[in-house]
Amino acid sequence: MTARKALVVGAGLGGLATALRLRRRGYEVEMVEMYKQAGGRLNQLVADGFTFDMAPTFFSMSYHFDEFVRDAGIEMPFRFVKIDPLYRVNFRGSDRWYTIYRDLDKLSHQFEDIEPGFRERMERFLASAGALFDDIEKGVLSKNFRSLPDFLFQMTRLPLKHVPKILRSVWSEMSRYFTSYEVRVIFSLVSFFLGATPFDTPAVYSILSYTEMVHDGYHNVEGGMYRIVEGLLREADRAGIKIHYNVTISGFDGSGKRNTAFIDTLGRRWDADIFVVNADAAMFRGRVFRRTAFSDEKLDRMQWTLAPFTMYLGVKGKMENIHHHNYFLGEGDYEPYSKGIFRNRVSLDKPYYYVNANAIFNPQSAPPGCENIFILVPVPDLRFKPDWSDRERIADAVISDLSARTGHNVEANLMTRVVLDPADWQNMFGLYRGSGLGLGHKMTQVGGFRPSNRDEVFSNVWYTGASTVPGTGLPMVIISSKLTVQRIDNEIDTL
Ligand SMILES: Cc1cc2nc3c(=O)[nH]c(=O)nc-3n(C[C@H](O)[C@H](O)[C@H](O)COP(=O)(O)OP(=O)(O)OC[C@H]3O[C@@H](n4cnc5c(N)ncnc54)[C@H](O)[C@@H]3O)c2cc1C
Repeated sequence: MTARKALVVGAGLGGLATALRLRRRGYEVEMVEMYKQAGGRLNQLVADGFTFDMAPTFFSMSYHFDEFVRDAGIEMPFRFVKIDPLYRVNFRGSDRWYTIYRDLDKLSHQFEDIEPGFRERMERFLASAGALFDDIEKGVLSKNFRSLPDFLFQMTRLPLKHVPKILRSVWSEMSRYFTSYEVRVIFSLVSFFLGATPFDTPAVYSILSYTEMVHDGYHNVEGGMYRIVEGLLREADRAGIKIHYNVTISGFDGSGKRNTAFIDTLGRRWDADIFVVNADAAMFRGRVFRRTAFSDEKLDRMQWTLAPFTMYLGVKGKMENIHHHNYFLGEGDYEPYSKGIFRNRVSLDKPYYYVNANAIFNPQSAPPGCENIFILVPVPDLRFKPDWSDRERIADAVISDLSARTGHNVEANLMTRVVLDPADWQNMFGLYRGSGLGLGHKMTQVGGFRPSNRDEVFSNVWYTGASTVPGTGLPMVIISSKLTVQRIDNEIDTL
């Protein structure tokens, strides 16, 4: 009997992990990818002797990668180390740096003067978040939902004590435990990892504080984040998975309940028995399958996550006042800034931003004696700010702020400078309106409300990755590949 053929659209982490899991199950697997190389958002940029990680700079919940390599029958294809301290934070106008340790003794020293009783408050906060984490991971994150009622039913099985966390925001949750402005700001930054703000993120996501501080923590990848992709590509090559680059799927050939082929922008057909879509699950339904429920008009009304404005700087000299992961925040305007930034209601002259100095951990990412600086500024998506002709001015402002706050003249020592705005992100990886983390994670856009990983019309089409269940971030994407393949395992015989 010949093996069933699977076509995977998109070679992001979700597509690669799904392809390897399917190959292990005996499928013949082929992949198509619109960008010139694999990885999707987990990508790499090389310029003038510097090798930059393009977006993700660390990951959590490493045991999901362990599960994945076991299921795919491969060795862990990259090496990672747990980090402590996690990151440092500076507020504009102050010389003080807060270092965020996982070690509670060291962490308490950072905050005792501004938050008396910090340790005891933090322990109570983390205990509450931890109890929720266990229930959410078992009851929601690791489950496939066949329908919205199925999801709602599963939710009713969560202990009632968690209900207030669905109704409160992350910011009000922080305010229940902490009084200091700085403490509340710093420990609510996790909302930005979901691409939103602590004011519109439900307190359920305080579980992210638990993951960073207590649970599995954060991990750096030795040699840079792209080693994950390089490792998976080696395994894909060994397994005979063929990947075609610079191929954008824009149409399909299907009827009744069966899709027979996808069609690319050059009119070529890509036939298979089953299809897995790693492109955005909402946008693909709207723009490729032309489903009215997913028209641009409808998608524009949904909640989308922050858009990335990213900068990749090669800098001569060693910057003294910088850590591997750093947050440069504003001065006392956290609430108005957070509430206005994604709607283009605040100026980008003095933005909040994250800086990753990769050469501190991975010296080979920069020439000797130089810094490899990646900057992420969360900005409005293209619905709210379609025109980025001011991008170089925004980049100049950030560079000058970074110089002032680190005491290193970045402008004068620039060896390379690449800037990507939301339109670039949209065009490179098909991100809807340039939204960096895809659909938002408010309660009505997760679980059974999120675009399903099984197509509603074609019974041989499934979806995988950050835009379907359970959600965004590298470990969630690995879980997503597991959930998708579980469904394929269970549903393939019903085709
Ligand atoms: C700036 C930024 C920083 C981040 N930082 C972190 C971090 O530190 N830690 C973390 O865990 N997560 C982070 N994330 C999130 C993480 O990058 C994503 O959740 C994850 O990489 C998504 O993987 P995916 O496979 O679902 O999607 P993608 O990586 O988007 O892959 C989808 C692939 O499909 C391709 N594609 C799309 N449409 C088509 C089409 N029509 N035809 C053919 N191919 C198509 C795309 O080119 C892409 O390669 C960050 C994201 C961004 C943007």
